[in-house]
Amino acid sequence: MQPLPITARTRVTRLAQRQVTDRQELYDVLDAGLVAHAAVVRGGAPLVLPIACARSDDALLLHGSTGAGLLREAAAGAPLAVTVTVLDALVYARSLFDSSMNYRSAMVCGTAQPLTGPEKIAALEALSEHLMPGRWAEVRPPTARELTATLVLRLPLSEASVKVRAGGPTTAADDGEPRTVWAGVLPLLVQAGTPQPSTDTPDDVLPPASVTRVTELLRGAASPAREGRG
Ligand SMILES: Cc1cc2nc3c(=O)[nH]c(=O)nc-3n(C[C@H](O)[C@H](O)[C@H](O)COP(=O)(O)OP(=O)(O)OC[C@H]3O[C@@H](n4cnc5c(N)ncnc54)[C@H](O)[C@@H]3O)c2cc1C
Repeated sequence: MQPLPITARTRVTRLAQRQVTDRQELYDVLDAGLVAHAAVVRGGAPLVLPIACARSDDALLLHGSTGAGLLREAAAGAPLAVTVTVLDALVYARSLFDSSMNYRSAMVCGTAQPLTGPEKIAALEALSEHLMPGRWAEVRPPTARELTATLVLRLPLSEASVKVRAGGPTTAADDGEPRTVWAGVLPLLVQAGTPQPSTDTPDDVLPPASVTRVTELLRGAASPAREGRG
């Protein structure tokens, strides 16, 4: 697998040792995130919006209404910058200056391509499988009208950066801070609540496998991969 090339746009300058060029790490961050923040420049000023996302092979997929402004501009060739962030922990140092967060974050930039035909349907299935695994097979396929109303974009992962912070607070041995002040890491976890049927779901229609699977997965969520002291 080709490492991520560092370009003038994707070079991390602050704490550059946290930049990761392993493409698998990029895939792992994108696969762990459900929400991206996509930015375009509109009228000379930046505009950032949250949007669901999924990775498919070496591309990031975005979808939405054909009326969505940012997606329309991206489909017409506007340059995009998209980030995905996974927050693993709050890092409590003995000063606020040194306090931090543990995270894995990715930024992808480039020009997206609108998908049509079978590629569009495959991308919608990939999005569905990432956001609600198993749901695609439980519900009817999209109708022609729904497909017409939906814009699906593919952003190649050719220019991307990954930055990772892990471990405990950075503490110099001679920092002069009293050790009576607690320092450490508070891991943050995503949990699922109890599934709540819609008001028009009959009592004897139970949550399907797709819902119970995610519920159980997130209920069993142990500590995040990046937890730790250091
Ligand atoms: C959850 C979270 C909270 C953060 N909070 C703060 C904060 O409060 N203050 C602060 O200064 N920084 C914070 N950061 C780090 C911040 O994202 C930047 O890394 C930092 O501002 C330094 O950027 P830079 O000067 O190196 O890069 P810039 O010159 O700003 O950007 C150059 C390039 O570096 C790459 N890059 C920079 N940062 C990231 C990143 N996080 N992920 C992927 N690619 C990146 C991009 O490709 C970007 O185009 C936070 C990061 C995360 C994920």
